[in-house]
Amino acid sequence: MKIEIELTHSPIVPGFAPAPNGGQGAVVEFSGVVRGEEHGKPISALEYEAYPEMAEHQIRRLLDSLALRHTCLAARVVHRLGIVPVGQLAIYLGVAARHRAEGIALLAEFMDRLKQDVPIWKRRALAIPPLMPLSDGSSKAPATIPRKALSLDAAMAEIQSRCVALPGVRRPLADCVGHVLRENVIAPGDWPAFDCSTRDGYAVRVDDPGPEYQVVDTIHAAGWKPRQLQLGEAVRVATGAAMPCRGLRVVMQEHVERRGDRVHRVTMEEARNIRLQGEEKKAGETLLAPGTRLRSGALALLATAGCARPLVSPRLRVAHFTIGDELVAPDQTPGPGQVRDSNSMLLRGLLQGFPHDLEQVRLPEDLGAAWIALASCEVGRADVILISGGASVGDKDFTRELLERLGFEISFAQVNVRPGKPLIFGVQGSRVAFGLPGNPLAHWVCFHFAVAMALARLTGGSVPRFLPGRMAVRLEDAPVPRETLWPARLEISDGAWLIRPLPWASSGDVTCLAEADVLLRKPANTGTLEAGLAVEFLPAEARLGRLF
Ligand code: AMP
Ligand code: MG
Repeated sequence: MKIEIELTHSPIVPGFAPAPNGGQGAVVEFSGVVRGEEHGKPISALEYEAYPEMAEHQIRRLLDSLALRHTCLAARVVHRLGIVPVGQLAIYLGVAARHRAEGIALLAEFMDRLKQDVPIWKRRALAIPPLMPLSDGSSKAPATIPRKALSLDAAMAEIQSRCVALPGVRRPLADCVGHVLRENVIAPGDWPAFDCSTRDGYAVRVDDPGPEYQVVDTIHAAGWKPRQLQLGEAVRVATGAAMPCRGLRVVMQEHVERRGDRVHRVTMEEARNIRLQGEEKKAGETLLAPGTRLRSGALALLATAGCARPLVSPRLRVAHFTIGDELVAPDQTPGPGQVRDSNSMLLRGLLQGFPHDLEQVRLPEDLGAAWIALASCEVGRADVILISGGASVGDKDFTRELLERLGFEISFAQVNVRPGKPLIFGVQGSRVAFGLPGNPLAHWVCFHFAVAMALARLTGGSVPRFLPGRMAVRLEDAPVPRETLWPARLEISDGAWLIRPLPWASSGDVTCLAEADVLLRKPANTGTLEAGLAVEFLPAEARLGRLF
């Protein structure tokens, strides 16, 4: 029996796929729709979860075993995963058989055994959210939202001013990588805390000319033994060992000859070979200021200072929603008109610079259904809501309205930048939301100048800013009335930052993203940029935290 299986996050719509066996033979079909009730309670949607390979393997095994008893020609199974609103198809099963009765028998047994044999779980039933009026769609932009696109600078300034730092939390130092320090950390004592040796050798008095010494003791790194040294005395010390008293120097072991308990200095050296108490930091001096992003070196410093639970930015709770019926998962083969969802992966990567917890959910491309799915998604707990797709002004672009229904005040809905003009920014208390254009390059651009700005502000860290560089090569381009944020590579030559623009043709491009590590700012109405020209650039994810 020929078997075709598809597990998909996309809606299963009528005519989505040809009947099994090209419609040859007796075709029997079953379509399972999500009903508006679960365990006697009204629901708005069901969420299905599966490990696709495992589920597909089990479906195939089940069909193979059923085919031994019900000789059929072909079977096709499509199961939807993710949130499926009430009234939409969750499963389709089509069987082509020589006789209709065979098909019906296989189909009935398959449906019987599906639940027990195949690991596709109903993760949760989503409750019906409180009713909110659906607008009649007559006005796309309420008067409060500027109809004109904001300039890039104005949009960045607006985000910066509307986002406030979330309250800091104390976390164990080991869990603070990438978090932003939210307190001033001062040195609790002198560092080093005591005079200590920087060499393996012999501690002697600085006023002792030698060259003969009597070795009177040994001190290892952890074994401090106070002792007032006399002229002619030496103490064997290890690197890091605390000096037995003040006013000593260390003669390197390589510079003496030892005979029994006596040493004879053969080489004279100026260096004292001692780190003096407080030479690096004195008690009470500032070690780190608030706003520092904690990377390895800063974490080592906090560990040294005994700051085991610093006050830092909280993990951001990010909810990311994709909208677009044309989207299929990366492991699926797109049909005509379909594309693989790349933005979910793009965003996962981009968010790495900011400690966060991420929930990614596919929304149906229907305002009512998306609203129901979203409102039941515990989205209310997210600090940041990101919606990919549907940000523009097409018939199916309802992101702005969706955010308004969630209670966000929309601050702007367009930015005069190329690519990435359709960008929606909304605020609700300390929470922020962005409606990002679905095109991957536009998505990437908007993340860097807008989303990264918001995340930096919410964490209390330093914000993205344009830096000065020079064109590495000539960039030929026609003048356009919008500023362009051009994907580019950063090179460093003779201490200068050189910008090498990457080729791109459309905001739907993805190829350049694999290489880009900065965004070159090309002013509006400017044509070709000559090699060596002074320009500005914004660091991209690979540089996050290093340049801003
Ligand atoms: P939209 O912003 O919804 O108008 O989408 C613009 C373009 O971006 C369309 O060609 C979409 O297919 C594409 N697109 C939308 N969402 C995604 C996504 N998650 N991954 C890749 N492409 C997308
Ligand atoms: Mg769309």
